[in-house]
Amino acid sequence: MDHLIRVLLVSQDRGLRTDVQAVCSGRGDPGVERAHRDFSERLQAVGGRAVQLGRDADQAWRLEYARSIDAATDILEGQDTISAGAFLVLLDCDWEYQENILLFTLTLQAVSESAHIVFVGTKPEGQIRSLVAELGDAERVSFMRKPFGAEELSRLLMNLAWRGIVAHNLRQAEMKGFSGVGAAELAGALLVESEAEQRRMAVQDSLTGLGNRRLFDATLAEVFSLHPSRRNHALLLIDLDKFKSVNDTMGHAAGDELLRQVADRLREYAGPGDIIVRLGGDEFAIIRAQSEGTQDLAERIVEALCTPFMIEGTTVQIGGSIGWSSLQDDPKDAAELCARADTALYAVKAAGRGSARRYTRDQDRQRAAREALEREMRQRIKAGPAPILFSPIADASSGVIVAAEAILDLTGEGAADITEARLEGLLNEPGLAMDVALWTVSSAINLADTIPNLGVSFNLTPRLFRWEHTAERLAEAIAAVKLDPTRLIAEVPSTAVFVDTDIAIARIKALRDLGISVVLDDFGIGSFSIDTLVRVEATGVKVASDFTHGAVASAQAAQMMRGLSFIASGAGLSLAASGVDTGAQWLAMNSFRHQHLQGRAISALLNRNELLARVKSPVAPEPAAATLELASAAPARSL
Ligand code: GH3
Ligand code: MG
Repeated sequence: MDHLIRVLLVSQDRGLRTDVQAVCSGRGDPGVERAHRDFSERLQAVGGRAVQLGRDADQAWRLEYARSIDAATDILEGQDTISAGAFLVLLDCDWEYQENILLFTLTLQAVSESAHIVFVGTKPEGQIRSLVAELGDAERVSFMRKPFGAEELSRLLMNLAWRGIVAHNLRQAEMKGFSGVGAAELAGALLVESEAEQRRMAVQDSLTGLGNRRLFDATLAEVFSLHPSRRNHALLLIDLDKFKSVNDTMGHAAGDELLRQVADRLREYAGPGDIIVRLGGDEFAIIRAQSEGTQDLAERIVEALCTPFMIEGTTVQIGGSIGWSSLQDDPKDAAELCARADTALYAVKAAGRGSARRYTRDQDRQRAAREALEREMRQRIKAGPAPILFSPIADASSGVIVAAEAILDLTGEGAADITEARLEGLLNEPGLAMDVALWTVSSAINLADTIPNLGVSFNLTPRLFRWEHTAERLAEAIAAVKLDPTRLIAEVPSTAVFVDTDIAIARIKALRDLGISVVLDDFGIGSFSIDTLVRVEATGVKVASDFTHGAVASAQAAQMMRGLSFIASGAGLSLAASGVDTGAQWLAMNSFRHQHLQGRAISALLNRNELLARVKSPVAPEPAAATLELASAAPARSL
């Protein structure tokens, strides 16, 4: 008699061989025995002699081994056709010999119409998908990633065997034109099976195999239909950080593979009863039946998502943010539960990403304030130019104003009573932060055109500095007002320059090619390298105000300021000091050979008309009139 189920194992792994042996014999492991009993009942339920599984599983299962694909091919070539009810091939080759796999598959198709291949290995499933596409029969291919238990293996093999047997028996019945062998029951079973499959597909995300939004909605509806005393559930919303950059740099297919691997990691961490879904894009959710331990779980998932992934042979690092909320906090319905978890997620993203938080009422208030700010900024951008104030910059020795820094001034009115420095951190949505930065810069350029003979500097936020199209956009703004670009000075954040040198060199070159000078702002803060300082080819540095203030307060700080000045002039860069608020600081900066000074000792912030008036009738401030407050040991004293 033909065996009901034939299994061909291609592997050198002894552990796997033992497991497969246990599955085929139904002995040796309680989990496997359980799976066998279930399978047996399932087969008997549809009746028919040919599907009766006897007490002795060996009668029904036949197991063959091959240590290599070549040996497996020999086995196949030794037979004309294989007519078992189900024919399952387990290929444990870690998918290294792709051509061999293809050849083997062709041989397999020649001897069996319905063989099902299970690829077993340590590599992630995605790496073999392209190969499977070539096989042209994704329906009859499965994946199992090592390590796995014997019970898990039995469940998979028995499910595949069940499908194989049903399909085989139907074919037999059709061929022989008779309705015996339980064919009617089998047909019914197949129908039930395919309906179940359809139901499964309807609630499954096709990319990752996780649940989809429909399953999510249905599960939450079920949770809320429970008696309140039984509702102790928690909802986690998970959004990947900086996922778009993977799509942008490595392509959409790599992004897809990353999403699949993220799904694998979520499966690894979630508990057995947890429902994991992909809501869409890079957003996932987990619904847990209990809230206890959720923060702990969320933190472990965040850590897992920060651990590098291997995609197409490249290491990829992203991250994840999680917001969660519990039914213990009595949300009135599923929508409120989701909104709360989303608010907690929003708070995590706003605070810089890469952590997990539970919902609190405070987050609602913060979110509302941020959203009001975002609305207001959108309206202001539409309504007209940015409100700009100028901070004059003077020549250090003459005190004559030579330039002015344009500063966005949102203080004084509405929700946006806020300083520019805090604004970028508060604008959660990258697109809006970018729009605000561009709006400010182009408004400054427009205003510069109305202030003749003065240099105008403007700030590039880190984001705007890194953006590859910034120089183009500035060129358009300059061309629109026919401004002489050499009057413009871009102040770029030093910290952004020294983080990614190659990008910084390219961006600074693009700005200088337009004729714009480039000053490294807040110089001295954070780490920097002298080599990079020379290579980026900026025109100058502006020392951070902390150093200016420090230089008159302690001898050590004064020495540091002297060192910074020395380095900058050695690199051929002009030197400016910000935060020059007192006459003493002015004199000190002069002694450190700063060419340009900025701060309250030079001028308060001025609007455009005040700046024009000031330039027309210069009243040079008088540093000498200020009290000299140099610290006793400051080197400036001896100059
Ligand atoms: P953030 O840190 O703020 O979360 O930003 P992000 O880069 O992760 O991007 P965001 O969450 O705002 O948007 C998710 C992106 O995922 C948008 C879209 O380009 C991409 N995406 C959506 N669906 C798919 C998909 O099925 N496959 C791939 N590869 N990318 C997708
Ligand atoms: Mg994201």
